[in-house]
Amino acid sequence: MIPGPFNYHRPTTVAEASRLLSTLGNEARPLAGGHSLIPMMKLRLATPEHLVDLQGIEGLRGIRREDSRIVVGAMTTQHDLLASSEIAESLPILHETALLIADPQVRYRGTIGGNVANGDPGNDMPALMMTLGAIYRLEGPTGTREVPAAEFYQGVYLTALEPGEILTSVSIPVPAAGHGYAYEKLKRKVGDYATAAAAVVLTMADGKVVSCAIGLTNLSEKPLLAKEAAQSVIGASLDEVTLKKAATAAQAIMSPAADARGPVEYRKHVGGVMVVRALQRAAGRTA
Ligand SMILES: Cc1cc2nc3c(=O)[nH]c(=O)nc-3n(C[C@H](O)[C@H](O)[C@H](O)COP(=O)(O)OP(=O)(O)OC[C@H]3O[C@@H](n4cnc5c(N)ncnc54)[C@H](O)[C@@H]3O)c2cc1C
Repeated sequence: MIPGPFNYHRPTTVAEASRLLSTLGNEARPLAGGHSLIPMMKLRLATPEHLVDLQGIEGLRGIRREDSRIVVGAMTTQHDLLASSEIAESLPILHETALLIADPQVRYRGTIGGNVANGDPGNDMPALMMTLGAIYRLEGPTGTREVPAAEFYQGVYLTALEPGEILTSVSIPVPAAGHGYAYEKLKRKVGDYATAAAAVVLTMADGKVVSCAIGLTNLSEKPLLAKEAAQSVIGASLDEVTLKKAATAAQAIMSPAADARGPVEYRKHVGGVMVVRALQRAAGRTA
């Protein structure tokens, strides 16, 4: 299939892009790497009349350190994330997750902004951003605002983005030195979206968990923070009973769709397995 007809716009500033999106209305969509939007257009699941390409806007791409946070511009590609020594050192879980997205061809074009703004529960970055406590910067016709990743997702392809707003950057607090981390993703084959995935960031002292956050990908119509599961391991060593308790608490909030990746019960089961594996691997990485 080829996409239906559309008008192409290439603004050079965020203000111009936002103005275009506001003026052109619901039939206009931002275009970033195009690796979610263009396939949707080819399948005629999306039929925007106007594409507002963000590639020509200077300053939207790049990774910089701001005190105890890493700020990633929306048009930074997944390949850029993988090539960054700052990310590898300060946010190794972001490096690990980017490497599990699709294949090198997709990662050369696909952007962090597109991945988190898309609203597809199959995208890997949203649950990770919630786990890390990231904040999204949105710029639109009425100004700029910051929205925590944990409050951004409302449903399938439904986010907190208002008409005319563009996500311009993602600001991520650097986790504590010596933290453990893991992104565990079950997929049917290399390059596939997750059947189930779990992100874990934790700290430990004297063999016990001091802090923990757990995120879940593709196990509901939106990415999830498994707060009770994370709470259940605090103060405990990650023995078999504790791991089982955490998996059960995480499974209680999962509501995956039955699809080509398996029936609901299977996906919840492997969701629990991903939580256990991620906790174990994260604990093994603490220093
Ligand atoms: C074969 C294949 C396999 C894939 N596998 C995975 C996978 O395993 N995991 C995964 O996470 N992803 C996967 N993807 C998707 C890929 O990571 C996409 O690149 C990503 O989801 C979207 O980023 P993009 O830059 O391509 O955005 P686009 O496709 O250009 O845009 C996606 C959506 O976000 C909106 N948008 C884009 N940028 C902004 C912005 N700055 N502000 C506001 N709205 C914006 C667009 O209007 C559109 O609605 C796969 C894609 C392909 C083709």
